[in-house]
Amino acid sequence: MRCVTLCRTAQRSASRVDARASAKRARPVADSVASTVSTRGGGGGGGMIAIGFEGSANKISVGIVNAHGDILANPRETYVTPPGTGFLPRETARHHQDCVVDLTARALDEARLKPEDVDVVCFTKGPGMGAPLTSAATCARTLALLFDKPMVGVNHCVAHIEMGRLVTGAENPVILYVSGGNTQVIAYNERRYRIFGETIDIAVGNMLDRFARVVGLSNDPAPGYNIEQEAKKGKVFVEGPYGVKGMDVNLSGILTFYESYANEHLGKGEITAADLCFSMQETVFAMMVEITERAMAHTNAKDVLIVGGVGCNERLQEMMSIMASERGGKLYGMDERYCIDNGAMIAYTGLLQFQNGETTPLSETQCTQRFRTDEVLVTWREGGSGVKRPADGSP
Ligand code: MG
Repeated sequence: MRCVTLCRTAQRSASRVDARASAKRARPVADSVASTVSTRGGGGGGGMIAIGFEGSANKISVGIVNAHGDILANPRETYVTPPGTGFLPRETARHHQDCVVDLTARALDEARLKPEDVDVVCFTKGPGMGAPLTSAATCARTLALLFDKPMVGVNHCVAHIEMGRLVTGAENPVILYVSGGNTQVIAYNERRYRIFGETIDIAVGNMLDRFARVVGLSNDPAPGYNIEQEAKKGKVFVEGPYGVKGMDVNLSGILTFYESYANEHLGKGEITAADLCFSMQETVFAMMVEITERAMAHTNAKDVLIVGGVGCNERLQEMMSIMASERGGKLYGMDERYCIDNGAMIAYTGLLQFQNGETTPLSETQCTQRFRTDEVLVTWREGGSGVKRPADGSP
């Protein structure tokens, strides 16, 4: 069985460079954020180790963290498809299955740990694409059964939020979660991450990816990244529809508009693909900033945290940062190591759940494509809103 190879590889790590030290160096996390890790309940204390498996979309990653919030390893592989195509569930799942065992060995190796050292095996339960999710969960289940370890199923969206809070130190921000599969504005209240606004059709990352296909941009390293670079060269703003509906956004109509515009006008010398990337990006990011600002006004929050793959976009960070500073607050942004799907965020969030007494029985370790952010009871944070209210209890 390949898992045996996995254990052997992990044992061979003694002569390697101290990957744990280099992981720490690469991490922009101050040790002061360690206090965000709760140590209530569960067994043991600060020395607990969690391994996390993430494969809900086109990335497969295995992360290892300890209870201090140190990221000991977080290797990742991305399934990249040719220009003009997207990733389909079956092929993506096959990619993940091909990579996951080696990634597990790599993660253990980098962390200089053996599978026996792991206290809990965490995996993404959902949301995401079914077959890719299951590919990662199957490896998690195998490891847990082989080494008799407890398991914890993790909500992917909540993991993005917790990872964001850990690496930036943001305590109680309004969160904009923007990725290929999700677009939500979220704020914490009474042990739930409440969804204040969201897309009513496609996710913003999905929209950008699809537009990259329309204008023939590469999917390497990521279509959204290539749109961002292209948009920097844009000079002409083509005004399209603006889709804010109360707290929600509508994106598919905007994609359709720019897609038809591209088909009609590109190649005639009047407009460039860069102009259209620029115009579409400015429009949808303005929408994101608008609904985030409204959620901040509702909740009295000053700070914003952007998580999810689209959160790497520096133009979005810039626009959000201007809005936050105008409100006397701050933007907490992250780079691609933690914005983009990764195993460490699953390991870290699973460890928080485990330390608060939660485990997922084997019979409930199946994945689910639909799993909303606000379904999770956030046992590891205090109740309330985190916002000070008048002592007489008035709103
Ligand atoms: Mg994600």
